[in-house]
Amino acid sequence: MTDSRPAVLCLSGHDPGGGAGIQADIETVLSLGGHGLTLITAHTVQDSANVARIRAADLALLREQAAAVLADVKVGAIKIGLLGEPAQIAFINELIERTGVPVVLDPVLRAGGGTELACAALLEEMKRELLPRVDVLTPNALEARRLAGTQDLDAAGAALLALGARNVLITGGDEPGEAVVNRWHRDSGTPRTFSWPRLPGPFHGAGCTLAAAIATLLARGLPVGEALADAQAYVHATLQRAFAPGRGRRIPGRAP
Ligand code: PLP
Repeated sequence: MTDSRPAVLCLSGHDPGGGAGIQADIETVLSLGGHGLTLITAHTVQDSANVARIRAADLALLREQAAAVLADVKVGAIKIGLLGEPAQIAFINELIERTGVPVVLDPVLRAGGGTELACAALLEEMKRELLPRVDVLTPNALEARRLAGTQDLDAAGAALLALGARNVLITGGDEPGEAVVNRWHRDSGTPRTFSWPRLPGPFHGAGCTLAAAIATLLARGLPVGEALADAQAYVHATLQRAFAPGRGRRIPGRAP
């Protein structure tokens, strides 16, 4: 490895089907010129249609893994996806404090297939303890409404900024409409919108791909606005070459 390939520390779940989670992170980080360091927060049982079960990883083991990796490698950004249990948040905050690098959080609350992936305690702990330390939050519209406790997306963006996230990109893939409209909230003003032609979905693992792409571009030193724009363009390209590994949803074609 050389310094020209910045390291992105990814804390995500494992999807054995290879569509979402840590594999999405590894493929995305690699495609965009980074190197993925991986801490697996949870194991899941799932197929390309839905998640059946999730089990949190052992916290003591995660601590040992993080200590070994951070003593060895300089991290350029942190990407957080699916969390296994509320107790992982204090551990993650220690990593954020220790590294001092940009943090991207994809607040994974529910699988595309419908299974709930975050209990009420995890949601509350995420809002109270993690959001104030996040540089870029990437909820879809459903997650933004649930985290913010309001239906109106402008109000939700403002509420998530008030909870401490420095930038909020609310994605519109799960909203109706001919175009997918993503909204970047960074202060109390009108959000900047990005509009993309809607591609035939549904997809599995698109949210993980977006958050990992933003983290990699921030690790490469891009300003937030450029990282958000370029990461969305990357995700759009991966969705144009999406493929179906099984009988469920299609997954992004992340390899160039
Ligand atoms: N499994 C894991 C490990 C994930 O991280 C996620 C989402 O981030 C999912 C499943 C659900 O992915 P999707 O909502 O794209 O189906």
